Amino acid sequence: MTHPAQPKASHFINGEYVEDTTGTPIPVIYAATGEQIATVYAATPAIVDQALSTAKEAQKAWAKMTGTERGRILRRAADIMRERNHELSVLETYDTGKPLQETLVADATSGADALEYFGGLAGSLTGEHIPMGEDWVYTVREALGLCVGIGAWNYPTQIACWKGAPALACGNSMVFKPSETTPLCALKVAEILHEAGAPAGIYNVIQGMGEVGGALVTDPRVDKVSLTGSVPTGKKVYAAAAAGMKHVTMELGGKSPLIIFDDADIDNAVGGAINGNFYSSGQVCSNGTRVFVQKGIKEKFLARLAERTGNAILGDPMDEATSFGPMVTENQMNIVLGYIEKGKVEGARLICGGNRADMPGYYIQPTVFADVTDDMTIAREEIFGPVMSVLDFDTEEEVIARANDTEFGLSAGVFTNDFSRAHRVIGQLEAGSCFINSYNDAPVEAPFGGVKASGVGRENSKEAIKHFSQVKSVYVRMGDVEAAF
Ligand code: NAD
Repeated sequence: MTHPAQPKASHFINGEYVEDTTGTPIPVIYAATGEQIATVYAATPAIVDQALSTAKEAQKAWAKMTGTERGRILRRAADIMRERNHELSVLETYDTGKPLQETLVADATSGADALEYFGGLAGSLTGEHIPMGEDWVYTVREALGLCVGIGAWNYPTQIACWKGAPALACGNSMVFKPSETTPLCALKVAEILHEAGAPAGIYNVIQGMGEVGGALVTDPRVDKVSLTGSVPTGKKVYAAAAAGMKHVTMELGGKSPLIIFDDADIDNAVGGAINGNFYSSGQVCSNGTRVFVQKGIKEKFLARLAERTGNAILGDPMDEATSFGPMVTENQMNIVLGYIEKGKVEGARLICGGNRADMPGYYIQPTVFADVTDDMTIAREEIFGPVMSVLDFDTEEEVIARANDTEFGLSAGVFTNDFSRAHRVIGQLEAGSCFINSYNDAPVEAPFGGVKASGVGRENSKEAIKHFSQVKSVYVRMGDVEAAF
């Protein structure tokens, strides 16, 4: 019997599901059991071409509609996503293994927020009037054209919407390629946009590995590439886009610092560290995986952290009581277990967890290491799993220098009750998305993105509009033209 997660076909192009079984088969594995629940096929060159040519063609009429008309469609799609939240959350759980307790509140809901927010902005995207004496200049905010979105596997619905909603609001079309690990949810986003009234071809979804991503990025019809993925992939995609002088947004990895001063509220700081390390089993790019704790509260912090981490409920992700799910794949589980082993060998003190959980599926116990030093592998490399490194510090100046000593710069957080210190420290941290007495909030109203190797450009908020549109300036002369001859 066909599993309910099996999509109607692998791709959604020009307003309908499209299949081409000559592409490489991609098995979809449910991380909680290891069972194969669906199969999709990677896009063949013919499918890639069909997706790009229909999106290129559809974009012209879409850009001519008023922003209000485009926005109405996006807002209708947001309503449909909210109505279907339960069904979409179950699919997200099948796609990623994340517990339903999370997916019910963080995925389709976050996608709907983006569709609603950018739908609301679409009608107010205007240029400027710049007086020049009798003459004037006016500017027009124009669409870029055909945009490509390429997703990571941790938030397949959210990423498809965070890229699609601002792109479409500005009058672009999009071809979206989800991660080959989680190919299911983006198809639903395309289906819902179509049902909400988006013209055929405006938002196409095709499947495939890096090779298909590469074909999209290098195609001369494409005007912009927005990638969510790792730093090594980002460097490749950025270089390929540069060769064609395409616009880019790069949402990449991190190794973000979370700094806890000894005047902080302990339970809030522990809560922030848990949210910043164990949500989605640690598979979050902005996680605060280097937790710097001032020496005065270190042991108290670790004791409370171990106690609360012990309350995590590992189990069936479809059971709403479960608060901690598996790693997305067996491969990712093995990568994370390798890092845990390195932590042990390099001399970090294991506070809790540290092993694969004794159950079917790809579960790893939430793991905390203390006495981690800056040079240890677990403090330097992005792990993308439930492994928290706790490092000690003495002074504000010292911790700022150590926090910034990384190639990454996605996020940073500070817990303290001294507000002038909080702002002073955040002001000096090299990171794009920061938090004071909180961690990992990502509302659509706030810009999201990194500095240094963590990325280029911003998603969400009005900032995203700048990255999905360009400005045309027009000088208007009222008098005669003066010329030298
Ligand atoms: P990945 O870099 O392996 O893959 C990302 C996407 O790029 C996939 O769809 C993949 O098929 C595609 N791809 C791979 N090679 C390509 C190429 N040469 N050309 C075009 N496309 C190519 O990342 P992943 O393992 O899926 O996700 C985990 C990474 O994503 C982590 O580093 C994480 O920090 C990062 N991430 C960042 C954010 C953010 O917003 N900053 C959010 C989620 C995840």
